[in-house]
Amino acid sequence: MKRLLLLWDVDGTLIDDGHVGETVYPLAFERLTGRSARHRVTTAGRTEPEIMDELFHRHGVGRIEESRVAAELTAQLQRRAAALRTAGRTLPGAVAALRAMRAQRHVAQSVLTGNLRANALLKLRLFGLAEYLDLTIGAYGGDARARAELVPVAQRRAAAAYGREFDADSTVLIGDTPLDVRAGLVGGARVIAVASGASSAAALREAGADTVLATLRDTGAVIHAVQAPGPTARSPR
Ligand SMILES: [Mg+2]
Repeated sequence: MKRLLLLWDVDGTLIDDGHVGETVYPLAFERLTGRSARHRVTTAGRTEPEIMDELFHRHGVGRIEESRVAAELTAQLQRRAAALRTAGRTLPGAVAALRAMRAQRHVAQSVLTGNLRANALLKLRLFGLAEYLDLTIGAYGGDARARAELVPVAQRRAAAAYGREFDADSTVLIGDTPLDVRAGLVGGARVIAVASGASSAAALREAGADTVLATLRDTGAVIHAVQAPGPTARSPR
């Protein structure tokens, strides 16, 4: 069977963080600039460096060294780990889907997330999901600002780890926002969208998702969608 690279988004797809994650950005902004954050920015589907860039831009603050921003974001989330555990939860069906996909020997399973790697790891460990994923591969918010650029990053890492190439036919991305869908379309992956986060099924379909699921509750439907033929097989040239 053809080897597949399966990349999961984290927030809104595997977990609901109870809005704890988004509190980190204005706090980090304040620590880094000494000013209070008057403007809010949207966070769903975006990378953490992209979110911070917009916060700086909207407040007329010049660029701050990337490593300082990353260190502050990591420290702030770490400080909220207990709140995250209390307010957050795994989304229905997520654990069963991860377990089922891990049991498929031809599937390499990791994440494609806007979270910095340390923050993704913290969230996944807090909710007991890390054990199902190969987190030595995957792509994270620190790897690129634009989400679509994370797809080739993940494919390169998986190729190096597993000794085979992954392309648009053999990469599947599961996410909850139109930005996840776009990342797959632009970056080169099939997309399964789950309407369990901030976006409706209609919006995800309109964005161009190959499959849209209401939730991950039906493990069989998740497996079926992951194993659907890729774009080349679907539309032979
Ligand atoms: Mg998400």
